[in-house]
Amino acid sequence: MLVHLGDMLRHAYSNGYAVGAFDLVSLDFLQAILAGAERQRSPVILSLAESHYGYFDPELLMPAVRLAAERSTVPVAVHLDHGSSLEAAIRGIRQGFNGVMVDASTQPLAENIARTRAVVEMARACGVPVEGELGYVAGVEGEDAERHPGEVIYTAPEEAERYVRETGVDFLAVSIGTVHGRMRGEPRLDLERLAAINGALSIPLVIHGGTGLGDDQFRRLIANGVAKINYYTALADAAGAAIRASAVVPGHRGYTDLTKGVQAAIQSEVERCIALWGGAGRAEAVLEACRPWREVEHLVLYNSTAEPSQTAAMIAEGRRVLAEIPGVREVITGTSVRAEGAYRDCWMVRFASAAVIDTYRDHPDHQAFADSHFRPVAGDRLTIDYQLGP
Ligand SMILES: [Zn+2]
Repeated sequence: MLVHLGDMLRHAYSNGYAVGAFDLVSLDFLQAILAGAERQRSPVILSLAESHYGYFDPELLMPAVRLAAERSTVPVAVHLDHGSSLEAAIRGIRQGFNGVMVDASTQPLAENIARTRAVVEMARACGVPVEGELGYVAGVEGEDAERHPGEVIYTAPEEAERYVRETGVDFLAVSIGTVHGRMRGEPRLDLERLAAINGALSIPLVIHGGTGLGDDQFRRLIANGVAKINYYTALADAAGAAIRASAVVPGHRGYTDLTKGVQAAIQSEVERCIALWGGAGRAEAVLEACRPWREVEHLVLYNSTAEPSQTAAMIAEGRRVLAEIPGVREVITGTSVRAEGAYRDCWMVRFASAAVIDTYRDHPDHQAFADSHFRPVAGDRLTIDYQLGP
């Protein structure tokens, strides 16, 4: 089931293990990652990276990700990986992410702080935790590491302390020697630096570029405060190897023949990581420690006293304006199937969480719309916020 990412990572941080944040690019990845987490009875983070949006349409994939998370029996969070802007974070929360990363790590410190703080203020008003990044982990998720070259810039403990204090991020991605994509040569980790950062911050730390690290290196990272490990390249490699193996089997020509082994290959690598990082067998304890993630349906029932054409224009304006407010996932309007009776018209506005109730009510765009368009034609009305779920 879907749970608060903050609760999940605090549990990992205080119990000395790390949760895998596995980037997915297709339904094969989604099913394989969740099957691996279920088999290991482990919490898991389903992660979608903005840099992968050329490979799939997030508007299409996210409903599947949310459904898979909600019907699973292990604790799951859905995280936007490397969100590039405030707009990307707002869009991500609308699409159903309940954790977002803002990556302004290529900017100078002051600019990184300013951009990150803007995302934290918005996301906090939606109840969504934020991961920031300080320092620079070179490369891009997956196969095309050449697209973001450059030197690794290590995270400085003093700067990390200031960055977290001034931005209010819930988790911090640190740069201590890993790179995105495939490693050239043996990775060298600066564990002393990591220990100093952990000592200064005492919040869950995140490692990007986990592919290629040895078992012992992972154990040391986790012993020094790493509670979330981003992992993609090795899963993509396992999927590619499965397809190449199928391609040489005589008679295997079509898409389903070639991709048949993909899920099993990804799942096997996911399970290896979960076991190594200490998440196996923790699902029940994590479910107990985490608040379930619950959306809220903001229901407004009324009788429009305007002409039908005026009502239609008012609804069109409201749907346009209200859907843009951070934390609003969906705006639905309807009319009663009966012509007679009270409350013939309705609005159903889906909020990402209960935190959005106040944010929405006080938002200037909502107030302007309500004052100028809605309230004048909807005198008699009922407004109720329902928390959804059992
Ligand atoms: Zn990353």
